[in-house]
Amino acid sequence: MTREEFSGDRLTFARVSAGCLQISPSALAVMRLYVQDASEKAEAGGILLGRHILGTNDIIVDGLTTPMPGDRRSRFQFFRARRRHQEVIDRAWQESSGTCTYLGEWHTHPELCPIPSRIDRLHWQQKLFRDQFDEPIFFIIIGISKVCVWEGYRNRRLMPLQLL
Ligand SMILES: [Zn+2]
Repeated sequence: MTREEFSGDRLTFARVSAGCLQISPSALAVMRLYVQDASEKAEAGGILLGRHILGTNDIIVDGLTTPMPGDRRSRFQFFRARRRHQEVIDRAWQESSGTCTYLGEWHTHPELCPIPSRIDRLHWQQKLFRDQFDEPIFFIIIGISKVCVWEGYRNRRLMPLQLL
């Protein structure tokens, strides 16, 4: 395992069926700030914002929220306070005339290669089986040396994505 994934300026993953998911340089730079590479760094996270590229199956993550007041953070847990993050989603949607949209969620893990916890799995499943949405959603975990992404569709299982 290397830290290579954080040395490039962007990350691109192959999507389940076609197209790719790209984490833009600006989004990756923000995520990089929260990598839990020191014992005092607590888990961090937020929601993912971005765009579907017209006429393709490509999606770009170019925005995200970061920990806000009301979130609960510790070395091994992160709970997002829903309301403040939702306000950012609503504002981004309005200001972009509906092109900048909610794409999913991200959080960090204090381990080299992130493995979803039981709570992560439960939370993701609740989203996939309870929430009303038509577009795929993505879950990103930022480990210390590796970034992992899963793609989910309503009422279907999550699929891990391969880094390109
Ligand atoms: Zn987790």
